[in-house]
Amino acid sequence: MNNRKRLVIAALVALGLLGGIATSYPLYSALTSGTETEEGMTLRDSSYSQVVELVRAGEVETLTFYGMRSASAAGTDNVLHRTLVPELVAADLARQAADAGVTVEFKSEEFLPYGESVTARALLAVVGNLLIFGFLGAFFYFYVLRGPMAGRSKVRQVSASDSNVRFADVAGCDAEKEELMEVVQFLRDPQRFSRLGGTVPTGVLMSGPPGTGKTLLAKAVAGEAGVPFFSASGSDFVEMYVGVGAGRVRSMFAKAKKKAPCILFIDEIDAVGRSRSTGTSGGAHEEREQTLNQLLVEMDGFGANSGVIVIAATNRPEILDAALTRPGRFSRNIVLQNPDIGGREKILAVHCAKVRLAADADLHVVARGTPGFSGADLANLVNEAAIMAARSNRDSVTMADFDHAKDRLIMGNERRSFVLSEEDRRLTAYHEAGHALVAHYSPASDPIHKVTIVPRGQSLGMVVRIPERDQPSLRRSRLLADLAVAMGGRAAEELIFGPEEITTGASGDIQMASRIARKMVAEWGMSERVGTVAYTLNYAERDSAFSEDTTRQIDAEVKALVAEGRDRALHILTTRMDQLHELAQALLERESLSGAEIKEMARNWPASVEDPSEVVAEQAA
Ligand code: ADP
Ligand code: MG
Ligand code: ZN
Repeated sequence: MNNRKRLVIAALVALGLLGGIATSYPLYSALTSGTETEEGMTLRDSSYSQVVELVRAGEVETLTFYGMRSASAAGTDNVLHRTLVPELVAADLARQAADAGVTVEFKSEEFLPYGESVTARALLAVVGNLLIFGFLGAFFYFYVLRGPMAGRSKVRQVSASDSNVRFADVAGCDAEKEELMEVVQFLRDPQRFSRLGGTVPTGVLMSGPPGTGKTLLAKAVAGEAGVPFFSASGSDFVEMYVGVGAGRVRSMFAKAKKKAPCILFIDEIDAVGRSRSTGTSGGAHEEREQTLNQLLVEMDGFGANSGVIVIAATNRPEILDAALTRPGRFSRNIVLQNPDIGGREKILAVHCAKVRLAADADLHVVARGTPGFSGADLANLVNEAAIMAARSNRDSVTMADFDHAKDRLIMGNERRSFVLSEEDRRLTAYHEAGHALVAHYSPASDPIHKVTIVPRGQSLGMVVRIPERDQPSLRRSRLLADLAVAMGGRAAEELIFGPEEITTGASGDIQMASRIARKMVAEWGMSERVGTVAYTLNYAERDSAFSEDTTRQIDAEVKALVAEGRDRALHILTTRMDQLHELAQALLERESLSGAEIKEMARNWPASVEDPSEVVAEQAA
């Protein structure tokens, strides 16, 4: 439940209470005697038998019946006795009173005189009752028809809205925007697009961690194309009852189709689209499967000209069902990541457009100090900083405001419990530059796709290499290169900061190198000394399975291979120290470098490093 709903309910409760009080007040005052009537008589509530007694005793001058259900008896003592009269005996009482010489009057109004302002109180009572009914009605509506108790009758409205977000509001992600431009062009004029021979886009899958602008970008596509934006969440379709989710999917697509061309944004697609092999069995499982099937059917049904573009978002693309990620379902696959330093500066600039900055506020410096922040975090940061400035009655946001805001955000956010110090950044930059440089100078290695020191999850940085083509088998040269690349990070740390300063950051690298080396020796028969025999048994079984001698030999050989990799890495780095500095410096400034950017830098680097194995052989001799 969102805040607005909560507020509405709170207001309704308050109104209901007020209504209750308002209604009970006239009742209360009716029950208290001693009130004055308009004629200046004392009003008293008396029982029926008391009134009968008074009539009998001759102490009543006038007896007035109201609709034969209640009566007031005006006595000689200037007291107006008010009572309810059982209808059955009203006529008896009237006769008895008339016999006793009392003036008997009959009035058609239902109300007893309440003393002064009778009508005002009556009105109050009516209003009070209306409020109570209103409150009960609202409660029923929110909780029973639409809310948590709704069950299968729950109907969630998927409604279109116009998006006023434009590509200009999404900072960075230029490549992604360009990819989406095709979708925009299609949506602007589907007929024209097909006439011109464009391949009609089917859908877009956006993946990336929370706050990286998936929703924002989807809205921007709708905004740029000027088409309606339907938005739903995968979790809306997850229901306990079989068939409900599927029905909802169907009706959502039907609605969108009526407004085509349009965008249908499905957030958290993983809630319905998670792989069918995982998860629980039973009813919930069956329901989800039906919902997913319906989704697939609808998406396939969106042939060439329907004009509805599905944009689905997830931060867990790896758990999606293969049917959903199959080529053709989504014609575009957009991966968003936490921004690097340049991206962060641009995002800050977008959000600072509405804020007045003090002269000392330097967004480049702010960007530099916020590694690991997502776009949403940065938007938050600007917001917090503006609040800080407003709180101290300043009309511009200073650097100190940004610092305070950052502290607040980091402390309130366990996801980023560590902040990188400048020293840590330098270490990471050299570590990653080390991997990258060794990869660059190892012809057998896969080419570098990207190097980054933007922290992500547990890792402080990484080098991504992507093979140029599928490799059905791995060559020994390639494995040796991988060993060297893995050792390149730690090697660079050692060279630059000294052996005392090396960090635990290389533990993943060391694990990987050991795994490769062990497989080379014990599985792939790539070690002459151990021979072409497979020793693929786990540690527990190993002792009994083969001789202590073999075990020792395998261990020694694994160690030698890893050491050889380390020597190769050290050799490349020591002979290319200038390049190491250049690469690390570039990383410190830009945080991410693409393979192309590294190639560009490498244009004035020496083409290769002489074969290190000769050097190693020389040293051994
Ligand atoms: P996601 O859907 O990926 O979780 P959102 O699109 O909801 O992230 O982003 C949340 C907010 O973060 C946006 O409303 C915007 O203010 C800010 N934001 C995220 N990425 C960017 C960006 N690239 N440029 C500008 N603002 C961004
Ligand atoms: Mg979102
Ligand atoms: Zn590493």
